[in-house]
Amino acid sequence: MINVCLLGTGGMLPLPDRALTSLYVEYSGKAVLVDCGEGTQVAVRRAGLKLSKIEAVFITHAHADHIAGLPGLLLSVGNCSRTRPLGIYVADTAADAVRAVISICDNLPYDIEYHIFPHDAAQSFSLDSVDTRLTVDTIVLSHRVDCVGYSFSLSLRAEFLPGKARALDVPVSMWRELHEGGTVTLENGTVISSADVTGELRPPIKITYITDTLPIDAIAEFAYGSELFVCEGMYGRTEKKPSMNEKKHMLMQDACALAEKAKVKRLWLTHYSPAEKDPSVYEDELKRIFSGVVISSDGMKLSI
Ligand SMILES: [Zn+2]
Ligand SMILES: [Zn+2]
Repeated sequence: MINVCLLGTGGMLPLPDRALTSLYVEYSGKAVLVDCGEGTQVAVRRAGLKLSKIEAVFITHAHADHIAGLPGLLLSVGNCSRTRPLGIYVADTAADAVRAVISICDNLPYDIEYHIFPHDAAQSFSLDSVDTRLTVDTIVLSHRVDCVGYSFSLSLRAEFLPGKARALDVPVSMWRELHEGGTVTLENGTVISSADVTGELRPPIKITYITDTLPIDAIAEFAYGSELFVCEGMYGRTEKKPSMNEKKHMLMQDACALAEKAKVKRLWLTHYSPAEKDPSVYEDELKRIFSGVVISSDGMKLSI
């Protein structure tokens, strides 16, 4: 089971009723956090989630609304009696800023393990500390400073087919081994492999997080087939397009067009400008571009 919570939906600055954009994804009891602006630790608590479950924090870029909440969050994690290391994933050109922000945390009772990767080339790595079936991919985005997007893909085992196992006289005691991809030998010497008793391989469950970027074409390919696509939509007013191009952000309409192209299951809009008081006024227009769009609000949850 994957439990997802969009902790906040704001961009630039937190508002009394809107926290900054950050995503909490829990895989069987261990969580990853993406971005940590001012007040993210409060948003975790408000959503009824546990700081102690966070194993890794992923940073998109070194702007304050994405990293200024790190000291408070890490200190509070320390107050949860944590002693095992916590991973921070950040691109090389954002690492110094992240280290500087974290340097004000005196005496953390656990180590920070930095995973620093090149900002200018796509990366792929497995995230065994959270789940051995979890892979993280990065994409190089186009913002005013170096910025990356992330996708988290959880591979699934093929469905176990008891009928096939029975037909091959495989004892129930051997089913688990086969379901987990192993091979067994029956008493009569017959070797049965996992593929003999399982269905077709299922595609991984993919969650993609993109924010603070121009709507470059590569995003559609990167997010392709996502179960959940979390994407910035700073404004719904299309007259804001020239200023979005200049500031290297995107409109809600841009995010919807990317979602449609990427054939994602659902799009959660986020990183709203403080000037967009009620993004739901654009819902009808946006649904005409991509019917699976959700005008997210803080604390929105999904279980997959
Ligand atoms: Zn931002
Ligand atoms: Zn930014």
